Amino acid sequence: MNTPVESAKKATLILKDAAQLLTCAGSNPSHLEVLADGWVVITGDRIAGVGQGAKALEVFRHTSGLDFSNPEEVSLTGKVLAPGFVDCHTHLVFGGSRVDEYVAKLPRGDAESLKKRGIPTGLAASMAMTRAETEEALVESAGHRLKNLMSSGVTTAEIKSGYGFTAEHELKQLRVIQKLKALQPVDLHATFLGAHGWPPDMTKEAYMDILMSEMIPEVGRSGLATACDVWCDDGYYTAAESGKILSKALDFGMKPKIHTDAYSLIGGSELAIEMGMLSADHLNYTTYDIMEKMAAAGIPGVLLPGTDFNVQHPVLTQPGLMLKAGMTLALATNLNPGNYVESMAWILVLACRRHGMTPEEAIRAATIGGALALGLQEDRGSIEVGKRADLQVWSTDRYENIIYRQGANLVEMVIKNGQPIVSR
Ligand SMILES: [Zn+2]
Repeated sequence: MNTPVESAKKATLILKDAAQLLTCAGSNPSHLEVLADGWVVITGDRIAGVGQGAKALEVFRHTSGLDFSNPEEVSLTGKVLAPGFVDCHTHLVFGGSRVDEYVAKLPRGDAESLKKRGIPTGLAASMAMTRAETEEALVESAGHRLKNLMSSGVTTAEIKSGYGFTAEHELKQLRVIQKLKALQPVDLHATFLGAHGWPPDMTKEAYMDILMSEMIPEVGRSGLATACDVWCDDGYYTAAESGKILSKALDFGMKPKIHTDAYSLIGGSELAIEMGMLSADHLNYTTYDIMEKMAAAGIPGVLLPGTDFNVQHPVLTQPGLMLKAGMTLALATNLNPGNYVESMAWILVLACRRHGMTPEEAIRAATIGGALALGLQEDRGSIEVGKRADLQVWSTDRYENIIYRQGANLVEMVIKNGQPIVSR
């Protein structure tokens, strides 16, 4: 009898000659490791080798023990190779359009006229338009947004529900995310955000009763969301209410995360520390002593410069202070009807120009930072051996151009699980 011999793993794809390979490895959030003349060897969906220089690649071919009989080889001369972006905060499943509201609220727009013209605004408007759409229509519109994100280098995204405000309509949004998982290659992580607010025809207390007794149990049992989110701010949910909601969600297997300190400081970020949340997001009003506590507790902060820009927020988040306090940071698009941002590069521009991040910090926050905020840092977010081969190629030889050259999409190739998914 023959003894089965395990055959050597096949090298399936080699990306080589990159002008710069950004590993995003290491624990210093301000230091970006850059390999000149960089290469990556991929086996299936994993990174099997990383290095620099043609000589080192030749050595790797002969010493790695991999089967190099038939890999595809792509030369990236004059280009930058980076990890795929991890967009850890989006609300990209929604119905209708709020473009009239956006235009009316521009500096020379006529916001007063919205009422006269009978145009509903804000969360209530998105609730009505999302409830009115079929699951198929939502899959279609969200699929287009996701495709645009993917073309901007995103290989993993988080999507929240939160425009339904009934079990039926929240589950509809979560099923849309489930369907999108099967229809396209970007990895999706679904979050239940029933506590985004409450419907206009109900008091907060009445809605919270339904949320606690019906919605969280039903969503939990459906298995359609791995995390639960709440908006904890003045005019939304208090820290005590948020704690109750998220504890209930935890009982049903959903990990807690939070929108907080965006417009007030009422204890949301401290709750994030107390509950050991996946992340705390927004953080405009977070004080330095809380930043230090978040750092000590290892709670990542998710910054959303697109929102600060689009709502003309008077208090910008301060990533410089947060990094000084020792926090881990992520950058995300927060793609939603009031902040229609489908480009991670634009988020990097804003993070650097308006919030004072360095290009190195911003690139790390959009890759390994996003992975940390989703609890996926062991699996992706950097170019390291053993990690998922989620990568992107920029048509430039210097990474700073992703921030300098604004409005153009420099992403010319995106690779997900070792397979090209975007090629321009
Ligand atoms: Zn949000």
